[in-house]
Amino acid sequence: MSYKEIFSGMAEELKSMKNSGTVAAYIPKLCEVDPDKFGAHLLTIDNQHFCFGDSNEKFSIQSIAKVLSLAMAFELEEDKLWERVGVEPSGISFNSLLQLEAGKGIPRNPLVNAGALVISDILVSSLKNPKRELIEFIRKASGNAEIAYSPAIVESEKLTGFKNAALINLMKSYGNIKNDIDTVLDFYFNLCSIEMTCKELAETFLFLAADGINPLSGIRIVDSSKAKRINAIMQLCGFYDEAGEFAFKVGLPGKSGVGGGIIAIHPDVYSIAVWSPKLNSKGNSYRGMKILEYLTTRTKSSIF
Ligand code: GLU
Repeated sequence: MSYKEIFSGMAEELKSMKNSGTVAAYIPKLCEVDPDKFGAHLLTIDNQHFCFGDSNEKFSIQSIAKVLSLAMAFELEEDKLWERVGVEPSGISFNSLLQLEAGKGIPRNPLVNAGALVISDILVSSLKNPKRELIEFIRKASGNAEIAYSPAIVESEKLTGFKNAALINLMKSYGNIKNDIDTVLDFYFNLCSIEMTCKELAETFLFLAADGINPLSGIRIVDSSKAKRINAIMQLCGFYDEAGEFAFKVGLPGKSGVGGGIIAIHPDVYSIAVWSPKLNSKGNSYRGMKILEYLTTRTKSSIF
């Protein structure tokens, strides 16, 4: 089945699918979204676009942005990065404190909240103007100067970010946070607040399908070995405690966010972004996961 046929069949497929789950409520601003929204955008490395539904509507990409902060820190720090954060799946919820105590303040991977907080600390240490340089890095990856933080989401996260405060304080006590806690939290909440459409998300992540180069602009974002490793980390750690399920059912490296978005990469072929706000019990988009399973099943093509 071609991508065109799959995208034309999507409305039918969604009709027979329940819109189960709940919108993330622990960040008050995320509750304001219409739970019935659904968008998808697939972009091939030779610039063919296939889209469906609300694919041009901005939403909060949340933790999907953690892949981009990782890419930036990896470029800056090279393998020194792995002295402060691991590359193992967590098998536990994204904001859990449990493993941090056992790991003496070293998070399991850069995509759980604790890991992204350490990456944020590293970027705060090594950049002159961290928030501006991060957004410029993301704009370079996406080829889109309009990508921006959402101040309203930042404020909303600050109001209820008690778990993140607990994680960062615990890591500070083990010496794995070097900067002032409020400065790092502010950077982290800004990272999570970025808004994109499905189209922009697919464009931003296309470099990971093309050995580290954005094939549309020709600009290198990370070297090819780092692109390979970031994809490996997404495969193992991109879906909270459901990474195995995503590999089993979809078979692509990817990353989800509690805003209901998912990015997935088919190396050398395409990137695809889907968005449906209601989350399953593990915090991943219910219909987003199902539609990606439909895609790789119908195309008979995944990395496995
Ligand atoms: N901003 C969210 C938090 O810190 C991100 C969670 C997510 O998307 O996984 O809890």
